[in-house]
Amino acid sequence: MEKHNSMTSDVTHIKDEDDLVEFLDKEFSSVFSEGDSILVKMHMGEPGNRTHVTAQLAKKVIDVLESQGCRPFIFDSPVVYSSPRNNEAGYLESAARNGFTKDSVGVPIVISNRSETFKGELMAYELCSEPLEADGVLLLSHFKGHICSGMGGAIKNVGMGCMSKSTKGAIHTGGEPVYGDGCTECGACVENCPTDNIRLEKGRPFFDASWCPGCSNCIISCPENCISPKTAKFDFLLAEAATIALEKFGKSYAINVMQNMTQLCDCVADAGPVLADDSGFVCGADMVSVDIASLDILQRETGSKDRFAEYNKKSSYPHVEEAARLMGRDMEVTIKEIG
Ligand code: SF4
Ligand code: SF4
Repeated sequence: MEKHNSMTSDVTHIKDEDDLVEFLDKEFSSVFSEGDSILVKMHMGEPGNRTHVTAQLAKKVIDVLESQGCRPFIFDSPVVYSSPRNNEAGYLESAARNGFTKDSVGVPIVISNRSETFKGELMAYELCSEPLEADGVLLLSHFKGHICSGMGGAIKNVGMGCMSKSTKGAIHTGGEPVYGDGCTECGACVENCPTDNIRLEKGRPFFDASWCPGCSNCIISCPENCISPKTAKFDFLLAEAATIALEKFGKSYAINVMQNMTQLCDCVADAGPVLADDSGFVCGADMVSVDIASLDILQRETGSKDRFAEYNKKSSYPHVEEAARLMGRDMEVTIKEIG
């Protein structure tokens, strides 16, 4: 019988790594089939980063897939900014420095910018070809803070991580501010810019475009609605890219790794302080549910409404809410606890 991506808001929170392996053994057999090529989408970290998902954990998950007769491989796309990871050779070298080689994980590691284009509401997205060609996609995402999306989890792993370099750039640029009339010089945009990039002068704000990652937080913060995005808010573009991609995947499954939950993402060598105790893994068939559940668990375990926003200023919620809205669902999830 053909197995499909089952959209369910049920997720499982597992504290222990051994329990995870046992759980995935049952779970994968209901999602993937023997002989399936499974693309394991993950971030292998900027050189020097020590808090990304490890090759050892990836290998454990890959071993479960292989034990069921699947044909897994690791995939990521090159980044658009200045980094050794902005081309295939450089990324493979960086991955090796961080412990990811064909020998260490036992499967090929593919880095590619090959893509196909799909139309969204306000822009077209170049979606990487490999996730479209694989029989299934497994999102193995590090749940941590992010300067543009507040939090980076499964949605970010798809909406940015499965896009071409050019689309990654377009999502960031599309979220940059354009100032209109009506500024009251209240200072909210200045205060809420994660990169301290805005100054008020002559009755209006100014920002340095060369230092703006397009997070759109100034737009969200302005009480007078006098700032607009170049294309659309970052959170909308990220969510739309992710939901378009998810529709095109044959089968998919998401695991959020709630370990080393740093202030910043794995794209930087020093991702800042760890903001919460390790809390295991959140697993489910739907990336939005897995991100919502991870935020709920973080809130419950830290007592903070939005732990990452305390450090990054940008809320973790807008891109998750946009993805939920685009998928015609609410923010409710049922979490089953193991361990
Ligand atoms: S988009 Fe983000 S980084 Fe850029 S100026 Fe606005 S708040 Fe600052
Ligand atoms: S938040 Fe809006 S009204 Fe306040 S200073 Fe910035 S642009 Fe002006």
